[in-house]
Amino acid sequence: MHQYLLRMVSACVTCMLVVAVASSADAVPQRKVSVTFDDLPIAGSVPRDAATRRTMTLSLLHTLARHDIPAIGFVNEHKLYSKGDLKPDSVDLLRLWLAAGMDLGNHSFSHPDLNQTPLAEFQADVLRGEINIRKLLAEREKTPEYFRHPFLRTGRDMETKLGLEKFLGEHGYQVAPVSIDNSEYVFARAYDLALEEIGADYIDYMLSVFAFYEDQSQQLFDRNIAHVLLLHANQLNADWFDALAARLVDLGYEFITLGEALEDSAYASEDTYTGPGGITWLHRWALTMCRLIRRDKRQQ
Ligand SMILES: [Zn+2]
Repeated sequence: MHQYLLRMVSACVTCMLVVAVASSADAVPQRKVSVTFDDLPIAGSVPRDAATRRTMTLSLLHTLARHDIPAIGFVNEHKLYSKGDLKPDSVDLLRLWLAAGMDLGNHSFSHPDLNQTPLAEFQADVLRGEINIRKLLAEREKTPEYFRHPFLRTGRDMETKLGLEKFLGEHGYQVAPVSIDNSEYVFARAYDLALEEIGADYIDYMLSVFAFYEDQSQQLFDRNIAHVLLLHANQLNADWFDALAARLVDLGYEFITLGEALEDSAYASEDTYTGPGGITWLHRWALTMCRLIRRDKRQQ
């Protein structure tokens, strides 16, 4: 009887736990959000090369795909041009959005402020802002459906506001409202600037390191030996080694294999260092040479 009761109690406890888990899952309220991105193809205050822009876009789209997020990107087509010429690599970024199953919308050509721009001028900017996206969407049998107001400014008076809404309707657009605004771009700018600063400091630091070892080499060998540089495969170098390599070329450096570097007679120098430090061979040779000089002096 006692055993039976215990089993009953244990079954009830298990049952209560299952119910508790189920009800805690049920307790998560259902929420919905549509994710929209403005200022495509790339927003930000730091100029980036085509390869970086593509990597950034693919990374963002990969994340969207991984979370099954059906996002829309609002385009400023003025960013697709350079001195009046269409930049195919920028247009390709928009193609990537569509290829990933995302939608594109109109965010005007040049991001004007409706509160500061006459309506007719603003409307012309809206139409100029759909030339490429309309073509790209047509390739997928779609048309631009949504318009996002730059700065979310919808006009300082009802006449302007309604005038634009009517115009948008006539051109097949629906206004893309926003319910969650934020100042994420402030973080983005700080993030970009911090990375720029760190990158620039890194280059300066590395050049000072080169200067230091060149000086060491000069002191030991009366010349700048073929060096062997130690680096690591990290994000910093993925982002900044390009700039560092360019600066090294400016200094006259040629990139050679490890084997070629080791052909430099300096690497045949004696190394008797056995201390605890993981130090460069320039330092090992220097310590070895000091020891040899001291020994020679003692023997004299
Ligand atoms: Zn914008």
